Amino acid sequence: HDIRTIGELFRRGVLRAVQKPIYPSQAGALNKVSLYQGDITTLQTDAIVNAANPSLLGGGGVDGAIHAAAGSQLLAECWTLGGCKTGDAKITGGYDLPAKHVIHAVGPVYDACNTEMRAKQLRSCYTTSLGLAKENGCETVAFPSISTGIYGYPLRDATHIALNEVRQFVDSDVEDKIKRVVFVVFRDVDRSMYEELIPFYFPPV
Ligand code: ADP
Repeated sequence: HDIRTIGELFRRGVLRAVQKPIYPSQAGALNKVSLYQGDITTLQTDAIVNAANPSLLGGGGVDGAIHAAAGSQLLAECWTLGGCKTGDAKITGGYDLPAKHVIHAVGPVYDACNTEMRAKQLRSCYTTSLGLAKENGCETVAFPSISTGIYGYPLRDATHIALNEVRQFVDSDVEDKIKRVVFVVFRDVDRSMYEELIPFYFPPV
């Protein structure tokens, strides 16, 4: 079956750690992120993040893929949650997924008239999801590129937000509870954008 553990992905050279800090005081933060191109539902992390909608009852894109792979028990648990506000996130089990948990984050639908509010909501998706992961003992977390599909968030801006929020979170995680964050890209354009911007937030030496 097409299940990928983090260790296997490293061995096969699919996941690449972004290595070596510029600032020694932040050494812990910089070797904690990876980029992976492929289907997030195959990853055996403690949690995968879903780009959900406010109903939490499934949808298209990565949401549809996650529900299809997790099975109907995921939908049953989601029914009990009473939806989720934009910018917020809720955690469930992973059911038939190789991941233990799904963190359902509701990204903003992009709106060029309210860019500051949309950015705040997207930032909140990352920080809230990482906070939930930490509270629930998840050491490895995989994120899709939230809001950049059907929700239309400009890819470059969304990628800056994702990288910046994760960088800040791992810097502040002094107890080292989050061991690895995997940025999962699906399309080649997303991969190129992350490859371009990762060095600014997680600079190699
Ligand atoms: P949103 O509604 O938040 O924009 P989408 O699911 O439409 O969410 O898109 C979010 C991102 O997830 C896009 O970059 C899309 O290409 C990507 N994506 C779609 N399916 C998968 C999958 N199975 N695994 C990982 N990423 C996926």
